[in-house]
Amino acid sequence: MEGRNTLQKELIYRALCAMDNHPTAAMVYDQVHRDHPAVSRSTVYRVLARMAEEGKILRLELGGSDSRYDGTIRPHGHVRCRICGAVADLPPVELSAPADTGGFLLEGWAVIYRGLCPACRRQAGQ
Ligand SMILES: [Zn+2]
Ligand SMILES: [Zn+2]
Repeated sequence: MEGRNTLQKELIYRALCAMDNHPTAAMVYDQVHRDHPAVSRSTVYRVLARMAEEGKILRLELGGSDSRYDGTIRPHGHVRCRICGAVADLPPVELSAPADTGGFLLEGWAVIYRGLCPACRRQAGQ
């Protein structure tokens, strides 16, 4: 049982890392399911959530939409297209923690730019 779980976890991790579009859990499931029909939807959702908690992958909360996952965990910024929702990586942003945290213990940060992707820019003539 443990062996099968580890194998499925590895499959899901590799599928995520091979996708460069910061997929939702549903998109990762579609990808994994194509080659490995035995892997269930609930397993994919559970494994992704677990790996994000363990810090093995990133979960991006972009507001409103489903969480997106990212196999790249080194610090980097993101940009999200406000029209089609495409998410891409940007170089890391230098941030220093504020002196006054309002009593919060800071554990991390996320920088998400909004804008238009190249395809939507062309469409909009910008
Ligand atoms: Zn777009
Ligand atoms: Zn990313």
